[in-house]
Amino acid sequence: MTRLFGTNGIRGIVGQDMTAELAVKVGRAAGTFFGGGSVALARDPRLSGPMLARAAASGLMSAGCDVIDLGVIPTPCAQYYVAKSGGLKGALVVTASHNPREFNGLKAIDARGMEMGHEDEESIEAILFEDRYRVAAWSEVGSIRADDSAAHRYLEGVRAKVDVEAIRNRGLTVVVDPGNGAGCITTPYLVRTLGCRVISLNAQADGAFPGRMPEPIPEHLDHLMRVVSETHADLGVAHDGDADRAIFVDDRGAFVYGDKSLALLARAAIRVRGGTVVTPVSTSSLIDDVVKAAGGTVVRTRVGSPIVARTMFETGAAFGGEENGGVIFPDHQFCRDGAMALAKMLELLAKEREALSELLAALPAYHIKKANVAVPVEKREAVLKALVGLAKGRPVDTTDGVKIRERDGSVLVRPSGTEPIFRVYAEGRTPERANALADEGVELIKKSLRGGERAE
Ligand code: MG
Repeated sequence: MTRLFGTNGIRGIVGQDMTAELAVKVGRAAGTFFGGGSVALARDPRLSGPMLARAAASGLMSAGCDVIDLGVIPTPCAQYYVAKSGGLKGALVVTASHNPREFNGLKAIDARGMEMGHEDEESIEAILFEDRYRVAAWSEVGSIRADDSAAHRYLEGVRAKVDVEAIRNRGLTVVVDPGNGAGCITTPYLVRTLGCRVISLNAQADGAFPGRMPEPIPEHLDHLMRVVSETHADLGVAHDGDADRAIFVDDRGAFVYGDKSLALLARAAIRVRGGTVVTPVSTSSLIDDVVKAAGGTVVRTRVGSPIVARTMFETGAAFGGEENGGVIFPDHQFCRDGAMALAKMLELLAKEREALSELLAALPAYHIKKANVAVPVEKREAVLKALVGLAKGRPVDTTDGVKIRERDGSVLVRPSGTEPIFRVYAEGRTPERANALADEGVELIKKSLRGGERAE
């Protein structure tokens, strides 16, 4: 069976594999899975969003679901709406998150507001592929209505989880770059209502993404970095297209890697009561150093925010997140939340009374090097098996892919959930060591590919 859902929902290029027909089918299958009842629907500002959202709504209604259309809002805002409304079956979110403008996608949310687990996604896939749709009779067809209160309720929820007085008193200047994505609807207002001075870039929602590409990586954020430095702001923040991720720029205009902001936010989260921090195997060892020093423990999972969120839910963890700026605060909700991450970073700056660049400089130094190697999907399993063989006799972690740990660094090699590539994450105490370990990872994949070919 073709797998429709990747690590973070269904994604594809509009008009090719992401079509109105597919959105109708996913709406019908999800509606069948939910078995009727009320379902929320939201989208990011992509140009294909109205087409796909209306198709998904039709599918949901045909299966007897009543659709509540939340319009253009961040994904975590839709999740918060579901989690706090009570009685909703879940949600569908039309978004391709950080992917380029020609992409769009569909994400399924469960009744608790969490990203749906793999088993539920597989149930929806099975309904779709086997054509087992629930077809509502004429009198049972679902209704649709709009609700524009989600953003307001969400921002109230975020503000309730931070010390607003402390943030206000610090008088911070923040440059906000939502990248013309869904964060335009919420983040500038959040920062203003927290008493900060706001300078906004790319802050009108526009699915053509005229300002920058949606993924918050250094290559896309040169404008943000320059504006932070030239305005002497305290902080810069950038979101991806659906604003579940927050990436920061420090007071000197330097890009802050997600591993570092994750470590600072983790330390702040467990400082008072200790507790467990959940993060995938791909996150830097920095988190281990910082969390252990603060009296907490780290639990590693497979890569993917739904897995991190579920592990946190099941273990009662205090905090969790990923190295890409996706951060989860369980007393707020069990999903990545860009606005909450920003609010907590502002609180941290207000309480530490030190500039972000100084807080970062005090962290243990690790150097990260990433690389990708093209591997055809049909060779994925053979390559993975060969890698385990090649790494034999060395300290290896196979939670997800193969991670080889050395005394002065590590290299993780794993297949991407969405693309025909293997990803290499290397880290070392020096840049040279990180580069050498990344090269080794790339070499191991190439060797495994050649081995796989010989075996065929
Ligand atoms: Mg996202």
